[in-house]
Amino acid sequence: MTDSPVWHPFTQHGAEPPPPRALRAEGAVIDTDHGPLVDAISSWWVITHGHRHPPIMQAIRDASERLDQVIFAGLTHHPAEDLARALVDLAPAGLTRVFYSDSGSTSVEVALKMALGFWKNSGRPRHRIAVLEQGYHGDTIGTMSVGARGVFNAAYEPLLFAVDRLPFPVDGGSQMLAALESVAATGELAALIVEPLVLGAGGMLVYRPEVLAAMRAVCDRHGVLMIADEVMTGWGRTGRLWACDHAGIAPDILCTSKGLTGGAVPLAATLATEAIFAAHRSPDRSRMFFHSSSYTANPIACAAGLANVRIWQGGGMQARLDAVSAMQADRLSALAGDGRFSGARRIGTIAALDMTAGGAGYLAAAGQHLRAHALERGVFLRPLGSTVYVMPPYCIGAAELDRVWAVIAGFGG
Ligand SMILES: *Cc1c(COP(=O)(O)O)cnc(C)c1O
Repeated sequence: MTDSPVWHPFTQHGAEPPPPRALRAEGAVIDTDHGPLVDAISSWWVITHGHRHPPIMQAIRDASERLDQVIFAGLTHHPAEDLARALVDLAPAGLTRVFYSDSGSTSVEVALKMALGFWKNSGRPRHRIAVLEQGYHGDTIGTMSVGARGVFNAAYEPLLFAVDRLPFPVDGGSQMLAALESVAATGELAALIVEPLVLGAGGMLVYRPEVLAAMRAVCDRHGVLMIADEVMTGWGRTGRLWACDHAGIAPDILCTSKGLTGGAVPLAATLATEAIFAAHRSPDRSRMFFHSSSYTANPIACAAGLANVRIWQGGGMQARLDAVSAMQADRLSALAGDGRFSGARRIGTIAALDMTAGGAGYLAAAGQHLRAHALERGVFLRPLGSTVYVMPPYCIGAAELDRVWAVIAGFGG
């Protein structure tokens, strides 16, 4: 067998050529055996500052001199403690407890379990979960259940649990808010889970901060827990540290992963309010939070997370976000009147457009063709169906970004 035994994620091995092999990465560029590629999507949205950002790499080296994985039940360590304190400081107000795991999906599973545990331990069990249509929260059975249904989960559909789906909030979101209000009014809704301000994998669909604030108000009125899945939006993507910051709201539970270590190593955290923690804290062992991942709070990953947090605390990040956002706005506006594209939209450092030709949906051919076209020209893009988006690491320079947008502008034109 000459083929590699590797089975790649979200890859049709029967239709795609073998991928280039990454050899080295630095800043916004990945060097491969087919030449350098500008990483226009931050390696699936995880790389924030840039590849192999020096202070994060140094923290990983230092931490690995002292600890590798150590069990995190019945034992604790400085990297986890220090990072947790820093996360509580940086997070929206009222999120006082930090539960570690190892991926975005897991952080969402943890959030859902915390919400149900809260209601059970409060003696008023609630089991319904409300979600936004077109939402994405991960690829495990639980997170697929709360996400959009489509070709990517059709095989598992019979096993996915039922949720209350709210329409995507257009304009002021009145239809969605009315739907939320009516589910919440049943008194059975345990939690609302949302990607704040932008539905990422659903096609970079952007909605207004006022809508997010209004969702918070409905949840407050009915005592429903609000879960903000900031796995993609966190760490500056929307132009502020957290997307929730645009709306001035604090969720009851916040999920973070992708940019938590600057993208260097896997780590996730689910932050919760004191009330949710208190519902689990008891002399009664049957009320504990029954969850763990083997690699919970990996010390090396926590040290990388702490190095990332120090960068955010150090100042200068807002200016960097503003600069990237302005460059993106400028490049996007150049294509806004182009008939090959529609729906130009941007939030902070994320810019997206829909291709008008080639069909819609996740399997749309145009996206595949653009991806191949870009690869040949030294740019790594990965359209979501017919939606093209650019989500670069914040270190990207004007020339690198120009190259990305020139590739998009040159496609089929
Ligand atoms: C990527 C993503 C996840 C899943 O994270 P993984 O680390 O891939 O498991 C969950 N929620 C959102 C909003 C995401 O963008």
